[in-house]
This record gives sequence, C-alpha cells and structure tokens, in this order.
Amino acid sequence: MLDERPIVAIATAPGQGAIGVVRLSSPTPQAMAAVVAAVIGRDLVPRQARYGAFLAADGSAIDMGLAIAFPAPASYTGEHVLELQGHGGPVVQRMLLARVLEAGRDHGVRLAEPGEFTERAFLNDKLDLAQAEAVADLIEASTEQAARSATRSLTGAFSDRIDALAERLLELRMLVEATLDFPEEEIEFLESAKALPRLAAIEADIEAVLATARQGALLRDGLTVVLVGAPNVGKSSLLNVLAGAEVAIVTPIAGTTRDRVQERIAIEGVPLNIVDTAGLRETEDPVERIGIERTWAAIAKADVVVHLVSAVGTATGAGTGTASAADGGGQDSGAASVDQALWQQIGQRAPSGAARLTVVNKIDLLAGAVAGNDDRVGNIDRGRVVRLSAKTGDGIDDLRRTLLDLAGYQRAAEDVFIARARHLEAMAEALVHVRHAAEHGRQGDAVLDLFAEELRLAHAALGRITGVVSADDLLGVIFSRFCIGK
Ligand code: GDP
Repeated sequence: MLDERPIVAIATAPGQGAIGVVRLSSPTPQAMAAVVAAVIGRDLVPRQARYGAFLAADGSAIDMGLAIAFPAPASYTGEHVLELQGHGGPVVQRMLLARVLEAGRDHGVRLAEPGEFTERAFLNDKLDLAQAEAVADLIEASTEQAARSATRSLTGAFSDRIDALAERLLELRMLVEATLDFPEEEIEFLESAKALPRLAAIEADIEAVLATARQGALLRDGLTVVLVGAPNVGKSSLLNVLAGAEVAIVTPIAGTTRDRVQERIAIEGVPLNIVDTAGLRETEDPVERIGIERTWAAIAKADVVVHLVSAVGTATGAGTGTASAADGGGQDSGAASVDQALWQQIGQRAPSGAARLTVVNKIDLLAGAVAGNDDRVGNIDRGRVVRLSAKTGDGIDDLRRTLLDLAGYQRAAEDVFIARARHLEAMAEALVHVRHAAEHGRQGDAVLDLFAEELRLAHAALGRITGVVSADDLLGVIFSRFCIGK
C-alpha cells in the first residue's frame, strides 16, 4: 500500500552550497497551508517567490530565503508542493527540515523516501516511467552525451516512440479481437486487414528503436574494459593518453570510496570503466584484498578484455630485438611475463560474450620491424589487434574506435535517448512476440487466436517501458534507487 501522507526532504545535494532547498509535497492543501502559516507566517501567492524569514516555533528566524507554493495539480509531483529555498548549509537545512516536520505533524508530514517525489509525479501522470527514470539518469549522467540523451528521454523522445508503436499494435489487436468475436467474419481477416505487412512494419520499427536504445544504454551504463598486461608494457601511459581531456565524472556512490583499481574515462561521451588488473597478485594486505575482490567483480562484468603487450622485448615480439630498458622496453615486459595462470583465470571469469582485444604498445621502438603477429597468447585467442604507441599517440584513435566498435557503439547520432537494460529487455521481448505472431499469421486465419495472444504479449511488453503496465515491485525497485529529495 502506498503511504500517501505529505512528504518532505532536503532536495539539494548534501554538503555546503550557495542555496539549499527543502521541498514538501502533499496530496491535500491543508498540510501545505499549515506549514506556510507556521514557517512563513503569511499567505503565499501561487507560483510567486516570496522573500522572508523561515520561522522557528518561537518566532525567531531559522534562515532567510524564498518560499514558493505550487498548488496542485501544476507542480512537479502533481500534488501541493512548497519549496523553501534557503542557504545551503547542512545544519541550517536540517533545522528547516525539522521545523517543517514539526509544523506539519498534525497533518502527518513525514520524511520522503528516495525517489518518492518522482514516484508521485509518475503516479499522478506528470511523467511516464521512462521519463521518471530519465530524471535519475540525468542526475547521474557522467558525460555530456549521456546528459543530453537523458534530457531527450525526459522530454519524451523515447516514450513517444514507444507509445506510437504500442498504438499501432493496439489497433491491430482491436481488429483481430473484433474478428475473433465474430467468427463468421474470420475468413481472410489477415489478408483483408493487411495484418502481416503491418506487423512487419511494426517489427522493423521496434528494431530501429531498440538499436537507438542500445546506444542510449551504452551512454548510461558505459563499458567495462579490463586491462591485462605485464609490468612496464605501458598501462599507465596508455590510460593517460586515453583519458586526455575526456575524463568521465565519477559519481560518488554511497558507501564506496574512490576505487584505486578502476579509472573512469570517456570516449565520445561513452563512459569507460577501465579496470587495471596489475594489482591482482598482491594479496598480503587486507585492504589490497578488498581491491582484488572488486577487480574480480569488475572482470565478471567485462565488456572488453584488453591484453596490452609491448612490441619489443617480448617473446611474442621476438625477432625485433630493438628493446632497451632505457627506452621503456625493458626485458621483463610483454606477453612473455604475463602470468599465464592469471590470464587463463581472467579468461574464465570474464563473461563469455566479452570481446577480446590485443593492444601492441611501443611501436615507436620498432624502427621499421613488424611486431610479432601470432594470434594466440598462451591458449587464449587474441581477438582483434591494435598497434599503437602511447608515447607518440600513433594508433590511439584506432584504439578508441575499436573499443567503441567492439561495444557496438556507432558514432553518437543526435537523436539518441537514454535507456536502461530494463527497456532493452522489454523491447527484445516485444520483438519475440511480434515474430511469433508473424509465424502464426503465416499459417493463416485458423490460428487467429494465437496471433492475437502474441500481439497482446508484445503490447504488454512495450507497456512496461512507459509504465502503462507496471507491477508495484518494479516501481519499488526503480524509485528506491533515486536520491532522497528527488
Ligand atoms: P605500466 O607498468 O604497464 O603501467 O607501464 P608504464 O606506463 O609505467 O610504462 C613503462 C615504461 O614504458 C615507461 O618508461 C614509459 O615511458 C614507457 N612507455 C610506455 N609506452 C611507451 C611507448 O609507446 N613507447 C615508448 N618508447 N615507451 C613507452
């Protein structure tokens, strides 16, 4: 059961800031009126900012700031919303929050749960589910492209495409179901309604939206790239050039400190989480051990496993013979000294779908010679091979392109909208049902009921994206991941 009492929270980020906003949302006007009377001391004109003191119970001022009332339904949540914009100090904000709770106690005002404001906006039809999720994705976006595509989803670009598809499926369903109700007219329904060509067009459109959504999901979730390589092959140098100006913003996740073994960078706005496996062998220290566990956890989610080797001074680069320690091509570098057992272990723990890429570094030291070109490292397939120099920058663009390519990312089209794994799954499911429907359809009108059922399932799958069809537990999962006050 939903707890529909009025809710209040500090809506701005924790910590010190120029301003801080305490926000109240109430299904009834009374709670807001009580808080306004107690804290502002006079009436507010709807949607008009009013500057003045925020009053404590004894009439003294807690803070000076702006108060704005948004009576229902023209507010973020669709309920009666009051915003108190004061100074952004954690203590003064907590005092103001406590004061609002106190002033609204008789009306049941309570602290908001994470995402509860946006959940109410969804329940009051201010946003559909995909838009509500885009709110969180916009807040969490780690690159400009991710932020832009989240805004596109927020303005409805994604939902509109889904709604249009759902509408077309619905039309077809209505036609089929009407025919099922009047079986004597069932004869040649599929033919006369041009059902199969219409279904084929819908299928093609779902595929197109799915392809765009996949790009959006990459912008949102990024790629996990696991970097494997012996000491001195140039892992740090490579990370530095790749990072360049494009460093992704690391979103601080509650309860975790910054991870030493993971670097966040971005390529064309796609966030990359680069996991350096260099530390995997140091096991004595308990702190290191935590890092190692995290590294393994990241490897289990790898999209690409990159094996970095040196073009010189390695067994696989044998015959080049130009290595010198002073050049950075020390004898202990390269594939020969990558712990084969470790490499095997990484191969086993990475997901089976993860792409493999071998990067041959230090080609500037080759002086015309060609790097060793065997396609296997130990027993492991090298996958694609990119040759580059972290020192001169040669081949770096090729690496960037290859990484995006392996992930299935096409150059950012303007119309990308943010999407989540949940959306991709729903669309994939809709596609399966549309294809089943088409198969039944090819068998003719005798199996029209099966055709209708598959259309219904496809329609329902699309409906889950925008929340037309939604289960309470799904909503719980989605909104509980928001920050408090959103
Ligand atoms: P890591 O131990 O794998 O992180 O390797 P580093 O990035 O610290 O590099 C080891 C050494 O190789 C350093 O002296 C780098 O300057 C040098 N190095 C890295 N990349 C290149 C390259 O492309 N060409 C040359 N000549 N030296 C490189």
